[in-house]
Parts: sequence; structure tokens; C-alpha cells
Amino acid sequence: DAIRKGKPRWLRKSMPKGGEYQRVTRLLSEAGLHTVCQEAACPNMFECFSKHTATFMILGANCTRNCRFCNVTSNTPTPVDPDEPQKVADTVLKLELTYVVVTSVTRDDLPDGGASHFAHVIQAIKKAGPGMRVEVLIPDFQGDVNALETVGKAEPDVINHNIETVKGLYARVRPQARYQRSLDLIRNVKKRFPGLPAKSGIMVGLGETLEEIRTTFQDLYDHGCNILTVGQYLQPTRDHLPVEKFYSPEEFEQLDRMARDIGFEQVAAGPFVRSSYKAGELFDSLLED
Ligand code: SF4
Ligand code: SF4
Repeated sequence: DAIRKGKPRWLRKSMPKGGEYQRVTRLLSEAGLHTVCQEAACPNMFECFSKHTATFMILGANCTRNCRFCNVTSNTPTPVDPDEPQKVADTVLKLELTYVVVTSVTRDDLPDGGASHFAHVIQAIKKAGPGMRVEVLIPDFQGDVNALETVGKAEPDVINHNIETVKGLYARVRPQARYQRSLDLIRNVKKRFPGLPAKSGIMVGLGETLEEIRTTFQDLYDHGCNILTVGQYLQPTRDHLPVEKFYSPEEFEQLDRMARDIGFEQVAAGPFVRSSYKAGELFDSLLED
């Protein structure tokens, strides 16, 4: 199958190291903070770090869920570090970041799912660097609208929540999540914070059909999603779900067109696109409209 044959040529990317990349990785390890960029060995790290963008992962490294595509450890969660908001803010300043994405593991063990901690991180970053833009990539908070309100009131610049896959694959890919619950979160962002851009993303290559992708795009659009990312699923280890299909760059262009035909104006679709890839640029283009 595709995995055994290895990645197609368009997915082989060499990662230049040195300069800014080294400085960023050193500062991050000194602060003891987690980034998705490093934990997922993201192929865009060099590019993003050079563009002063990074994705912080707060609330520990252990997740209470166990999605079949995700390399984050599923284990007993660690206590919340009350100093983490300040540590993130200090590091953001040191790294001279201009666009920060903040995400977390899912913390179904916490009464508010970690929403107040998200709010503290947003506030600490904004206080440290006025003008700094913060995108939060949040879990579904088990549908808790109050938790979503807590995050929204801290005034992030974008609220992102990934639908991740098509409805028909939820049981297999995201067994503890619900397709409609994630759509409702997007709708609630727009209902409660109409001026706040809502963003979502999907991975392709898990066995979905083109029609299922179209339906998911349409569902997101109908629930008020403003910004869409579409990227290739890559199997992190052999214990994770296999890749069913590698989409070619041309097929990603078709998906990009499909999303724009539905009405999306801000779309990033491509083999290396991640939820936070070119996040700052997508946000800027939204403001220009
Ligand atoms: Fe980090 Fe996201 Fe960039 Fe990857 S795409 S390096 S996770 S900011
Ligand atoms: Fe990974 Fe998020 Fe699923 Fe946890 S909830 S396993 S961090 S995708």
C-alpha cells in the first residue's frame, strides 16, 4: 500500500536548520515549554520560525483523549501550571513572535476543560506585547458554551477548532469527539462573538470520499466558519491509522477551488498545510477584505 511504498516525492521536504531555527529551539527548551511545531516534528518549522510564528501547546503534554491520528501522549493529565501564562508571554517576547497560535491537549478532567487557563494565556500575551495577535486552537470543551465564552471574552484574534475529518470517519478517527458538537462550536463562536473570525481545518487521506469532503466544507461554511485549512494526513507512527491516500498538489488545488466555490475566501490547502500554517497571513487577508 501507499505507506509501504513510502511518501510521494512532493512530500519529501528537507528541513534546513541553523540561524533563527536554532535560536528559537534553544529558547523554547530553556523555558520548558511545549510547541506543536517540535512535538509533531512539523515540516514547516524552519519556515514558521523564520516568519516569527509558532504554536504553543499549553496544559501539559498528556491528553485525556486518544484520537487515532494524533501523536500526543494519551495519559493521566498533569497539574495545571499557574505560571504557564507568564512563561508563554515571556517566551513570545524573547522570540519576537508576531503571530502566536495557542493550543492544548484536551483536558476533559478539568471542570472548564482548561478554558480559564486559555484566557489567562491570551491575556498574558496581550499584556506583554500589545499588538501581538493570538489565535487559539481549542478543544470542543465537551460542548460547554460557558467555557467557550470564557475564551472568547479574553479577546483572541481568531478562534480555531478543527473538525479534523468527515462525519463518516469520526467513530474511527476521533472516537471521543462528535461531528455535530464541533460544528456547533463554530456556530456558537459566531453567535456570541460575531466579529471574531472562526477557523477550522480538515486532514485528508484517511479514506474519505470527495463528496464527503464537499459536505464537510459546506457544513463548516453553513455554521459560520470563515477560514479553512486542508492538509495531508501523515501517519505519525505504525500504531496510528494508515494513510489511505496521498493527495497530489493538483488535487489540493481542486480542493481549494471546491472550498472557494462554496464561498470560503480564506483557504489554505496543500500537502504541508497544518492548522497553524501561514495562520498570520490568512488572518491578514481576512482583514484586508
Ligand atoms: Fe508550528 Fe504550525 Fe508552523 Fe508547523 S505549521 S511549524 S505546527 S506553527
Ligand atoms: Fe491529539 Fe487533540 Fe485528540 Fe488529544 S484531543 S489525542 S491532543 S487530537
